[in-house]
Amino acid sequence: MERIKLHDKVFEVSIPSDRIQDAVKKVADQINSEYTDADLPVFLSVLNGSFMFTADLIKNINFQCEISFTKLASYQGTSTSGKVNELIGLTKSLKDRVVIIVEDIIDTGTTLEKLLEVVGEQQPKEIKIATFLFKPEAYTKDLKIDYVGMEIPNDFIVGYGLDYQELGRNYKSIYTLVE
Ligand code: 5GP
Repeated sequence: MERIKLHDKVFEVSIPSDRIQDAVKKVADQINSEYTDADLPVFLSVLNGSFMFTADLIKNINFQCEISFTKLASYQGTSTSGKVNELIGLTKSLKDRVVIIVEDIIDTGTTLEKLLEVVGEQQPKEIKIATFLFKPEAYTKDLKIDYVGMEIPNDFIVGYGLDYQELGRNYKSIYTLVE
């Protein structure tokens, strides 16, 4: 079993790159069957982790579309407004658009919930969620996830865009932490 060491931790390959590419193509096929040029969806890629999935997914999309990149920032607002979530780096309006949010991984779903709230404020016509990885055992929300590449156990993984303390994003396979 191929192993890598990042900082102080050892990881073992769990999803090889060919299986990743098969799963990406399946997600693309599903999205391709639901949209046409006339919908002109915006793929909204949530950085940093989703850059690899976004690139592979978009190469398999066969209708006209736009791609935007964003990051979700959370900060403490005034005492009355509480925590404020904001999309940074997004320069275009999503009003009346079909938006397909592209995530690398959905774990508890907290990030997804915040994302849906801030994207929703822009009054898009429709919001769909595509995630490459989903941890059903960790998920605590009942928000619908429209497209899932792979369901995985509740273990910490790296590779294919995902990091451990900023390392490991460059690997084309996915690796699981060895306890
Ligand atoms: P959630 O808000 O769904 O609990 O977590 C989503 C975020 O947690 C992801 O965007 C990702 O940054 C991080 N995350 C969750 N699970 C993993 C994992 O197994 N590996 C890595 N590298 N990040 C993870």
